[in-house]
Amino acid sequence: MNSRPRLGNKNGNGAAFRASLLAWYDSCARDLPWRKSHDPYRIWLSEIMLQQTRVAAVISRYEEFLRRFPTVEKLAAARESSVLAAWSGLGYYRRARMLHAAAKLVAGELHGEFPRSGDRLKQLPGIGRYTAAAVASIAFGEPVAVVDGNVERVLCRFFAGDLSEEKIWQAAATLLDRSRPGDFNQAMMELGATVCTPRSPACLTCPVMELCATRGERPAGQKPARQKKREIHFALAHRNGSIFLTRRPHDARLMASMWELPEISASPIRAPNPRSASNHSVKAKSRVPLFTLRHSITVTDYTVRVWHAASPDAAGEWVPLRRLPKLALTGLARKILRRAEILT
Ligand code: SF4
Repeated sequence: MNSRPRLGNKNGNGAAFRASLLAWYDSCARDLPWRKSHDPYRIWLSEIMLQQTRVAAVISRYEEFLRRFPTVEKLAAARESSVLAAWSGLGYYRRARMLHAAAKLVAGELHGEFPRSGDRLKQLPGIGRYTAAAVASIAFGEPVAVVDGNVERVLCRFFAGDLSEEKIWQAAATLLDRSRPGDFNQAMMELGATVCTPRSPACLTCPVMELCATRGERPAGQKPARQKKREIHFALAHRNGSIFLTRRPHDARLMASMWELPEISASPIRAPNPRSASNHSVKAKSRVPLFTLRHSITVTDYTVRVWHAASPDAAGEWVPLRRLPKLALTGLARKILRRAEILT
């Protein structure tokens, strides 16, 4: 392992770090739709969508969202149900509600002008320290560093230490290239997302390998998070051009008011599980599931079995298929309906 690097804004190593990172970013950065613009609305939208959601999942939803709400004014004027429908598939719907609330504030009180500094952006609903710094640096060139999970991992490995949260923000600020803060911040996140990845950093292709203290050796005591495994069952019932869906409670902690397929307690050919929260019964049309798919949410990997059902015994409604594209469906419901070729 190398000795711990000493970097600063003025010393040679800091300059070498910035030059290597930005040269790599200029030639290797992924071509992502939000990188084509400095429009604060587009940058802000991408940053909110990318929180807790993979880039691949965000790309198509981002373009679609912008087609429906091309400006902050259009978003502010939309009904919440339309915003949630456009957010469908991205999960963590509180983000969409906060986005909508912030859009109303910008379009109304601020006359369509986004605040230009991180400190002022933080006063908008749903914008924390990270998002404020990202939007301020990328859209307005403010020299403020960002720290997300990717940047944190890069810095902990780079400096060979379990740094406190505040130390990480300080380290990121010290390294920041003040002439290109937006590009630098994106380069740091890109490095964490594509090279210095959680399980197997590709150190041999890393632009700052020569300066790195660990070069991929895991700091002592750090173990990869273990994924939990769960099996869940859903009933798929359709008739006369309609499908049976249930709606999550308005006060649910997750995905409030979203539509989904009725979850059933276990395979319908077994006895219902009395300890399960969802104990809908169902009359299955077959002894084998229609199909099985995998779905991961944060630390849980789900095996999802979908049963062709006649009529679920659950509170819900028959929804005409033509309404589905505009309905606020959960991500998993959308995935199931696509797999069943009910949604395109
Ligand atoms: Fe991460 Fe390896 Fe690069 Fe160090 S050399 S920053 S561990 S990818």
